[in-house]
Amino acid sequence: MDKRLEEYARIAVRMGANLQEGDTMLLRAPVDCAEFARMIVKEAYDAGAKEVIMGWRDDTISRLNYLHAADEVFDSFHEWEKVQYDTLSKGKFVLLTIDAEDPEALKGVDPERIRRSVKARMTALKDYSDKLMASEFSWSIVAVPILSWAKKMFPDLSDDAAMDALWEAIYETMRIDGSGDAVEKWKLHTARLQEKCDKLNALDLKQLHYKTELGTDFTVDLPEGAIWCGGADKNKQGIDFIANMPTEEVFTAPQRDSGNGVIAASKPLCLNGTMVEGIRFTVENGKIVKVEADCGLEVLEKTLEVDEGSRYFGELALVDYDSPISNQNLLYYNTLFDENASCHIAFGAAYPDCVKGAEGKSTEELMEMGLNDSLNHVDFMVGTEKTEITGITKDGQTVVIMKDGNFAL
Ligand code: ZN
Ligand code: ZN
Repeated sequence: MDKRLEEYARIAVRMGANLQEGDTMLLRAPVDCAEFARMIVKEAYDAGAKEVIMGWRDDTISRLNYLHAADEVFDSFHEWEKVQYDTLSKGKFVLLTIDAEDPEALKGVDPERIRRSVKARMTALKDYSDKLMASEFSWSIVAVPILSWAKKMFPDLSDDAAMDALWEAIYETMRIDGSGDAVEKWKLHTARLQEKCDKLNALDLKQLHYKTELGTDFTVDLPEGAIWCGGADKNKQGIDFIANMPTEEVFTAPQRDSGNGVIAASKPLCLNGTMVEGIRFTVENGKIVKVEADCGLEVLEKTLEVDEGSRYFGELALVDYDSPISNQNLLYYNTLFDENASCHIAFGAAYPDCVKGAEGKSTEELMEMGLNDSLNHVDFMVGTEKTEITGITKDGQTVVIMKDGNFAL
């Protein structure tokens, strides 16, 4: 057994989800990752889990369902599954998701079926996902290779070599080298991200202006009391967790109705099992008013149709072009990695923790504070080698935040 795999399971449970004694864990994993899932379950019990509940998924079966299930299925969501999420999230609960998918699992599936199904699911799980967005419980996403994904990234390698190459790449991003000190490295890393947040928070920014060589020219305001977050989150019980591993970003929320200009994506986006490439959004008063893409346009348009808030933004994240994941020069076709190699923006819901005084506020109150609400939260990559982001502070000073793709403070 590779020592690195045990170390990976350990940091996923103890740093990512940061499972505490007596917690119930919901572990979601693809069936192809069963071996890693078993290691996670063992580690969770070693850490004091009360119970681990499995949620298995499978790309091939999802595809078969989309192609062949009765049409009315796509407008409904099983009540028992909603009850499961709602009940679990009321108790001492952590969620750990093993994210591994064929980036093109649903290629060619009717985009309208995908839209209906995603909307039915998200609508049924809105209370639960509001709790997740507000860090009412700890949650984390990690990834391990599966063959379809590895072959998409390394099509010229044999099956075994592609899997090995993806494992090596992931271990590197996770700061796991077999020396057993990944936990310490992660503590240092999250502290460095927090330092960046402190610098940004001290500026008290009012507005950001993005410019890239791909044509992004976008101005956006930050809401009153905006907070930059990064590294570890804190759940409502005050326990640290890391929502995405790896993570290289610091992020905040935009003022919902404030963005203007053009945003050009810098990497392809894997959206609901379909590749969307060459995204260009035209934005007026915070709203996406024009959508262009070189491929996957229909899936993107359907996603934006889910609700009104899908056309507004919920996250502004800064990532150095010169960062460990970016320097691998790999396209992962997986947002967990690609968003951590590039400045990104999300359309859809904002994280309440990104603004002061959000705790305990209703969705309506959060919207009044300037935060967007939606069933969606979709990150897409905008950062490039030449990205320039300047900020305007509340007292009218201009500050260079990112220069030539990198953090400049
Ligand atoms: Zn982000
Ligand atoms: Zn995001």
